[in-house]
Amino acid sequence: LHEDKKIQSQEFKLDQDNELRFEVESKNEKVFLTLKSGKAEVFGTELVKGKTYDFTSGAKVAVYTWHGCTIEVKGKTDVSYIAKETPMVMYSNCHAALEFMRIEAEKENKKGPTTMVVGPNDVGKSTVCRILLNYAVRMGRRPIFVDLDVGQGQISIPGTIGALLIERPAAIDEGFSQEAPLVYHTGHKSPQTNVALYSMLVTQLSNTVKDRLEVNKKTRASGVIINTCGWIKGTGYKQILHSAKAFEVDVILVLDQERLYNELVRDMPNFVKVVFLQKSGGVVERSKSVRSEARDQRIREYFYGTPKNSMYPHSFDVKWSEIKIYKIGAPALPDSCLPLGMKAEDHLTKLVAVTPNPGILHHLLAVSFSEGDDDEIISSHMAGFVCVKVDFGGDAAPGNENKPDEELQVGQTTDEQAPGEVVESK
Ligand code: ATP
Repeated sequence: LHEDKKIQSQEFKLDQDNELRFEVESKNEKVFLTLKSGKAEVFGTELVKGKTYDFTSGAKVAVYTWHGCTIEVKGKTDVSYIAKETPMVMYSNCHAALEFMRIEAEKENKKGPTTMVVGPNDVGKSTVCRILLNYAVRMGRRPIFVDLDVGQGQISIPGTIGALLIERPAAIDEGFSQEAPLVYHTGHKSPQTNVALYSMLVTQLSNTVKDRLEVNKKTRASGVIINTCGWIKGTGYKQILHSAKAFEVDVILVLDQERLYNELVRDMPNFVKVVFLQKSGGVVERSKSVRSEARDQRIREYFYGTPKNSMYPHSFDVKWSEIKIYKIGAPALPDSCLPLGMKAEDHLTKLVAVTPNPGILHHLLAVSFSEGDDDEIISSHMAGFVCVKVDFGGDAAPGNENKPDEELQVGQTTDEQAPGEVVESK
């Protein structure tokens, strides 16, 4: 009680079409949000009246109301203000148009709209996807969410692209439930590092998503919403075109950049609707270090869960003889050394066997159950991820791989361990 008294509390009265924005920056700070009266939502998820939601450091939140409400905020926020100008009506109109397309698709038992959200960094692409997905599930739809953003994606760990069937609105504080995601691993925090691999995996993911749409009637009519990364110039733009083609998009929502909008209107076939949307004034720009911290946080959550859904990583040993370790991408060879008919880029999507060595210590490895050839291993989706913690001393030293008692120690959980050192697959 004594502690409670010290927490500062503020009440905000919001008129219709207003948004309360706040950020929690300070470490170990918690902010509690309660809807006292009226109706409000956070990025498309409705708040339950009287229920308290807590936000930890790094949270950047917007509480929007269509009809007016009173909100109580307890705890130390770094900024908090009410904004009267928001693009929510525009976003809601987009949802209405998509819903219309879903109704038409349902009538004819066809594929619902596949929508791709594009734009530079920090314009609210992920947020728009979340709003549209939430509105869709609130209407009883079951859309697929595809995240092609390897750096700041919302599915699995950084370095991956993936798809998720959305069956419930996102939790206010923890986002969408990560049940059974379909995940492909690029191994890089930006697609630029290996564009050939990224393109190949985008194509693979699009084929798998199309297969899923074929077998599920409800999802087929609900359609797909695709988030992309902020790489929009040069090769990045070509990559957007490639993704649009692979997923056979029907709608592209361009956030904030008229140049990108005009380029897409020029280059997309007429049946693709390209729509320009304003970014919200509330979207917060994130520095390099904030982005890097967000990536670490996602990895920590992968292994340890969230405060409300903690996970306890366990350890198990695997014999060297039972696993094979590969990295993707061989060193480039000059054209003159390449076998006939092979292109230099082909090397970027080849598997190279890796002998266990101290260099893989503390690295995240994707686990694949595929036993096929190189191409099949690369293009199969991932079973999970492990972080390597190897004891290279004694018998387990690389080079002694065939001794029966040698083991790759994949994980140990002790309280002292830094997050990310533990091996666990989800
Ligand atoms: P990236 O290019 O890194 O993927 P993005 O364009 O997807 O970024 P978001 O992740 O959607 O951008 O938004 C950036 C941050 O701004 C997020 O932390 C999000 O919670 C916050 N944000 C988005 N909209 C609002 C808003 N209206 N008010 C306050 N914060 C917001």
